[in-house]
Amino acid sequence: MIFFCAAPQGESEHCMTARILDGLKIRDQIFAELSDEVRLLTSAGVRPGLAAVLVGENPASQLYVKSKIAACEQLGLASALVTPPATATTLDLLAVVEDLNRANDIDGILVQLPLPPQVDAKRILEAVDPAKDVDGLHPVNLGRLVSGRPGLVACTPAGCMEILRRNEIEIEGANAVVLGRSDIVGKPMALLLMHANATVTICHSKTRDLPDILRRADILVAAMGKPGYVQPDWIKPGAAVIDVGTNRVTDAKQAERLFRDFPDRLEKFRAKGSALVGDVHPAAINIAGALTPVPGGVGPMTITMLMSNTVKAARLRRASPKFSATQSSVTAR
Ligand code: NAP
Repeated sequence: MIFFCAAPQGESEHCMTARILDGLKIRDQIFAELSDEVRLLTSAGVRPGLAAVLVGENPASQLYVKSKIAACEQLGLASALVTPPATATTLDLLAVVEDLNRANDIDGILVQLPLPPQVDAKRILEAVDPAKDVDGLHPVNLGRLVSGRPGLVACTPAGCMEILRRNEIEIEGANAVVLGRSDIVGKPMALLLMHANATVTICHSKTRDLPDILRRADILVAAMGKPGYVQPDWIKPGAAVIDVGTNRVTDAKQAERLFRDFPDRLEKFRAKGSALVGDVHPAAINIAGALTPVPGGVGPMTITMLMSNTVKAARLRRASPKFSATQSSVTAR
């Protein structure tokens, strides 16, 4: 739904407030569905389990892993934490992954990135059994995604699809623009939208006339890592905007520019000394038809889809085919 405010004729398209696409609400819905499925699986003797490999003592990584384990506990999943030292070699980590590949009660293996510089991260990720690759980063799962076969899909783009679908945003036939081409967000996002019958354009740092391309987007997914980069007048009035960017702004001048029309946010920034901002300028709320907030939009969906992938991996690998046939609540699964 788009709300138009009173404005002189001809100006109305610049004066609307986007519907907020609330990631926390969708996380709660999916968690409720997953809890039921975990209960059923557990009573059938298949309690889904996730193992996190956290190398060294990077505080941000520790925080991410802690929230992932907390989510497992909330849903009744088993979890295991493996913490090799920061000095671990590629061979050490290959041995850790091999052990987890063999453990029957581990359905999902999450190798928290970044890995220390001496480690060949690609080799580690490729050593994960594709059936346990809950981050969807293994070439086998990427290949399945390219060819439209079922597999484990990267969590953030899968979460973006859930946001679109559960808010009934029409994807089929839409012009979708994905800003960013990373392996973890941009590329899988573009493929998911294409498989859902959108006409997809992928933009990156060498794209010419970016504003013009963005202005044609019915659905815009921004994943570039630049705070407030996408200007409101680059957005087609009424478009659905999925802002994946999660950027911490600490510069007061930058915050003043971004939050000029948002005194509450500016006040919070001043009190805290930092604020999270997406890749889309906050004033886009006056142009877009629907918009994910930052924080509280795409962010909560990443852990949600990690849980969803772990339950799916357990179901596909260990549950009987009869059980698998009855479960399909999360659409991207
Ligand atoms: P990334 O690997 O750094 O990729 C950034 C992409 O943006 C690249 O493809 C780059 O193009 C493109 N880009 C950079 N500057 C550009 C410009 N001026 N014009 C057009 N394209 C430009 O980043 P990522 O891992 O995909 O993450 C993107 C953002 O999403 C970050 O803010 C990250 O924190 C956030 N994120 C959030 C979640 C979540 O759970 N909410 C999860 C993952 C990522 P080139 O390829 O040409 O360099």
